Amino acid sequence: MGLVVQKYGGSSVADAEGIKRVAKRIVDAKKNGHQVVVVVSAMGDTTDELIDLAGQVSPIPAGREFDMLLTAGERISMALLAMAIKNLGHEAQSFTGSQAGVITDSVHNKARIIDVTPGRIRTALDEGNIAIVAGFQGVSQDKKDITTLGRGGSDTTAVALAAALDAEVCEIYTDVDGVFTADPRVVKKARKIDWISFGDMLELASSGSKVLLHRCVEYARRYNIPIHVRSSFSGLQGTWVSNEPQGDRKVEQAIISGVAHDTSEAKVTVVGVPDKPGEAAAIFRAVADAEINLDMIVQNVSAASTGLTDISFTLPKSEGRKAIDALEKTKERVGFDSLRYDDQIAKISLVGAGMKTNPGVTATFFEALTDAGVNIELISTSEIRISVVTRAEDVNEAVRAVHTAFGLDSDSDEAVVYGGTGR
Ligand code: ADP
Ligand code: ASP
Ligand code: MG
Repeated sequence: MGLVVQKYGGSSVADAEGIKRVAKRIVDAKKNGHQVVVVVSAMGDTTDELIDLAGQVSPIPAGREFDMLLTAGERISMALLAMAIKNLGHEAQSFTGSQAGVITDSVHNKARIIDVTPGRIRTALDEGNIAIVAGFQGVSQDKKDITTLGRGGSDTTAVALAAALDAEVCEIYTDVDGVFTADPRVVKKARKIDWISFGDMLELASSGSKVLLHRCVEYARRYNIPIHVRSSFSGLQGTWVSNEPQGDRKVEQAIISGVAHDTSEAKVTVVGVPDKPGEAAAIFRAVADAEINLDMIVQNVSAASTGLTDISFTLPKSEGRKAIDALEKTKERVGFDSLRYDDQIAKISLVGAGMKTNPGVTATFFEALTDAGVNIELISTSEIRISVVTRAEDVNEAVRAVHTAFGLDSDSDEAVVYGGTGR
């Protein structure tokens, strides 16, 4: 039997009982003959609490110290988990991201993994230990500073270690039974997906299905690491995410994989931009120089031929302040009228590779939203995704309406949510 990487999310290790329960699962995998590497997140909502705490001492905490603070959460859980495993009579050693060889670039708060050199993990395994690694963190190659990988980044740590250690599989243990056709916290009739392609999972993840982080799926696709998403609270088979369905199972690619929603973004509108070449470039250069990643972008030339246009874009709420500050500085040079900032929005996305070849999908999507009385503010599409921005207060209604309209509702099992606060 080979090496497995198991990742346990915050809700799976929310308290001492959770840590002991997870420790038993890990020991079982070891007893089954596997070499086991475990990646663990901070307990429960610890990371959110640390962020709140930082906000109380400084409105915009500096990247380096912020990262140093946040990585403390995973240190607590890794040490406790190693203790719990030892208490069951098995050897375990915990490692920070840096000790585990997770090397990143130096962009604090959302660093990218550029190399993994897991020498100490290999040694620990060869000596018969279970290796426990703190997720979500690394060390920057140039400055040797501690970095974090962005919210939900333990998923990426797990896949990166699985690739570097040539693991058989990367198991992501969470508080639901797998990847569903919509967030089970919103759609009780969501259906568990047995298998989903990397491509569709990538779109779901980048559209807000936080059950897997998009960077983790990107990484898994690049190194062809199959991911098994499952619950740490049940013994059920979960969802396989891979290039092809596993083994001899005949699973067809669904036309529509699911509906994702995201309430973590805000919308910025630059009002009254002169309608001439170079203006959009100047605006987006300013935002890029502030190291902000944008999502949707819409420009609308005024039909009233005023010579002005409005440009709207969405971005993570957490970067809103930075974006507005950066844009204010370009106001005179670009010559726009004003800026509007709106953080009461939600994005709803429909994802499925079958969309390419099924012409009615877009119409059905918009009809479902119309019937639910949901107003659409922005639209964007890719080959296998349609996304709209709506008011935040409409999000649950909109997701359920679209889920039903595409026949995704299950007729029996209610989707179970075992833990977590959904924060
Ligand atoms: P963890 O703490 O294990 O990392 P997360 O909270 O990051 O867990 O991710 C699990 C959560 O993702 C679930 O509790 C669920 O509310 C949410 N989620 C969103 N979309 C989906 C989906 N399509 N399928 C399953 N879970 C989803
Ligand atoms: N603890 C970090 C977070 O809450 C990382 C993770 O859970 O994956 O974002
Ligand atoms: Mg997560």
